Amino acid sequence: MIKANLRKVRRRAADGKHRPIGVTERRLFGRLQSLDDAIAYRRARIAVPCADCDGIEADRRCDDHACDLMLIAAYQRSAAEVILILSGAMAQMTG
Ligand SMILES: [Zn+2]
Repeated sequence: MIKANLRKVRRRAADGKHRPIGVTERRLFGRLQSLDDAIAYRRARIAVPCADCDGIEADRRCDDHACDLMLIAAYQRSAAEVILILSGAMAQMTG
C-alpha cells in the first residue's frame, strides 16, 4: 500500500501539474515504511505459538508478547499520524 501511494505521488508530480515530491515527503514515506516493517515483524512474533502465553488466561499474553502488542498499537498510532501529515502534504501538492 505504501509503495502504491508513493508511485501515485510520483506519477502526479511527473505530469507537470504538481510540484515533485520533496525531501520531507520522502522522509515521511520512509518513516511510514519503517513503521509498516516494524508492525509486520511484531505481528509475526505474536503469531508464533508460545509456551509462556499458553500458561496464562485466555485473552492475556506473556510479558514478551504483551510488549509486542503494545508496540504494534504504538506503531499503528504513529503510522496514522504520518498518514495524516502526508495527506495534508499531498493535498497541498495537488491542490
Ligand atoms: Zn508469549
